[in-house]
Amino acid sequence: MLSDALTALKGVGPALAKKLEKLGLHRVEDLLFLLPLRYEDRTQLVKIGALVAGARCLVSGEVLLAETAYRGRRNLLVRVSDGSGQLTLRFFHFSRQQQAQFQNGVHVTCFGEVRRGSAGFEMIHPEYRILRESQGAAMSDSLTPIYPATEGVQQGRLRNLTDQALRAMHDDPPVELLPESVTRKLGMPSLAEAIHYLHRPPPDADIERMQAGKHPCQQRLAFEELLAHYLSLRSLRALAETDDAIALIDGSEQVSGFIADLPFTLTGAQRRVVDEILGDMSQPHPMMRLIQGDVGSGKTIVAAIACLKAIACGVQAAIMAPTEILAEQHWRNFSDWFGPLGIEPAWLSGSQKAAARRESLESIAHGRAQLIVGTHALFQEGVAFSRLALVVIDEQHRFGVHQRMALRDKGVGTEGHPHQLVMTATPIPRTLAMAAYADLDTSVIDELPPGRQPVSTIAVPDTRRAEIVERVRAACASGQQAYWVCPLIEESEVLDYQAAEASYQALTDALPELRVGLVHGRMRPAEKERGMQAFKEGLIQVLVATTVIEVGVDVPNASLMIIENAERMGLSQLHQLRGRVGRGAAQSHCVLLYKPPLGRIAKERLAVLRDTNDGFVVAQRDLELRGPGELLGTRQTGLPDYRVANLVRDAELMPQVQLTAEVIRKSSSHRAAAIVRRWLGDAGRYGKV
Ligand code: ADP
Ligand code: MG
Repeated sequence: MLSDALTALKGVGPALAKKLEKLGLHRVEDLLFLLPLRYEDRTQLVKIGALVAGARCLVSGEVLLAETAYRGRRNLLVRVSDGSGQLTLRFFHFSRQQQAQFQNGVHVTCFGEVRRGSAGFEMIHPEYRILRESQGAAMSDSLTPIYPATEGVQQGRLRNLTDQALRAMHDDPPVELLPESVTRKLGMPSLAEAIHYLHRPPPDADIERMQAGKHPCQQRLAFEELLAHYLSLRSLRALAETDDAIALIDGSEQVSGFIADLPFTLTGAQRRVVDEILGDMSQPHPMMRLIQGDVGSGKTIVAAIACLKAIACGVQAAIMAPTEILAEQHWRNFSDWFGPLGIEPAWLSGSQKAAARRESLESIAHGRAQLIVGTHALFQEGVAFSRLALVVIDEQHRFGVHQRMALRDKGVGTEGHPHQLVMTATPIPRTLAMAAYADLDTSVIDELPPGRQPVSTIAVPDTRRAEIVERVRAACASGQQAYWVCPLIEESEVLDYQAAEASYQALTDALPELRVGLVHGRMRPAEKERGMQAFKEGLIQVLVATTVIEVGVDVPNASLMIIENAERMGLSQLHQLRGRVGRGAAQSHCVLLYKPPLGRIAKERLAVLRDTNDGFVVAQRDLELRGPGELLGTRQTGLPDYRVANLVRDAELMPQVQLTAEVIRKSSSHRAAAIVRRWLGDAGRYGKV
């Protein structure tokens, strides 16, 4: 029964089944996992004399009077008394029949929100039932669940359907898939108990705890769901471990020589991460490693060392950046670093001229190019590598399972898959990383190069813009440089660019003694690059830009960052932008210009940035304010939605989920597969189990 289609239930035809599909319901069993959003207490009658405004209560009493009144429009007013006080029921829409029901002396039970009206308490459009003589008030014996709504499906209907599904569950309880040792240790109920409780909680249930999602029954389900996702990712990982890759062992001297000749010393964190990477690359299976590191922690050089290792072993390495500006910057850096070693990086981007592209493609295909730098054009069709053994993806904060899978298939040859290194622009909290990146090994660069001073950040209303312009003047007069970032206007590149253009004009007029440049997303790549390069070389002192400079851009002499309309941007984005300064020895400043008045969330966001420079703290707060979907970009990257679990609320379960997963994987692959199937469907949404 539980595995049957919904139409197996009484009262469900094809039309209703279609509507229920919108809630993600296909089989009877799915109803069990459609958990109520909240609960209402209709298990007890509340005395009218004891009502308080704002509460949603069940009340019963006798009709004293029903009358229609005009208050702009026709109202039906019904006065009800239970001896302890009087309450008015107010209806704006009503039929003649309804009006006739409310005879004086009739008994009525109603449920609704209590509000303060002109003549005492009232309920507007309560749910109500007229009681027959001698009939008592109808109370429920459990809390009333309120389900997520979909158009054309009433709560009453959902209650009826879940009733049927719960009955089916009692006849044929779902198999308990968690080992008993685990549920006992965590003090969690069985699956069937948890499901029943959450759909029909007893009158004395701790509603507050349930509303917060912290009830053991909720945790029980969340745990199993997190476990299912985790197991699925781990099995994906296990699959990769059976793949072949070229073991990159040679070239150690060249690599250590390169490190020794750098103009700076690697930080301890960089050294540790380099070791982890080189260790992975020496294995005959593809590396799948994620590097997390705050802005400015020095991820690029770590990537360069990995690339050099590959090249020294006689194979190709490719590094992909999310924007042309950043790819260009890498190309320059890598040319500088590797030039003395006789390694000339090849360039590949979408905007390249046909002839140049052809030349690049040819040298990539023939293996003359040992190192290839570019944008996502690197992985488009028609790009054939000769012996690609390492792929680095830089500043990729939206990197989903599907992209990881697609990448795995690139450069597949007789020698297997390339090693993969992903570097994220946005650090994410450890427990979230555990859940989202369970198929990857992760390294953290948790140390900034020495001598960096934290960027001091202030939030200023844009009414004080003139003052800020003076600050820019002063900073540039003392030989420093400034960014002026313009609002991102969602989904409108045109408006984006107009705003940047306007600020550019205004700043050019206000600062005649300074050279002001402009870079925005609609410029041709060559123009953008010219602007960036001029800024880098100090030919331009103020760079007005849209958020195209959000990630990666590295100009150590820039020490002042102005962000307009900061109230419109997300925390992580602001942190990234701010990370463009504070890269040199000078004390850097960030000014968040906002349009008052600030909403509550915006105020909180700006306060977080004022208070901390730590990307992990920022990420944690961002997560709490926006949810994991935004942070990980799940909508773009296909990380599936969770039905019960909430990655923020339930993050603390992750360490135990991880332990349990390892136990189950070792003891019973059967059970692991069954858990994944229950929560992710037959295919296991991430791939084969
Ligand atoms: P991110 O991690 O944000 O990508 P980058 O790789 O752009 O950071 O590095 C930021 C700056 O720090 C660059 O100018 C880089 O040359 C410099 N840098 C990197 N590592 C060190 C180090 N160990 N000591 C000093 N400067 C470093
Ligand atoms: Mg970078």
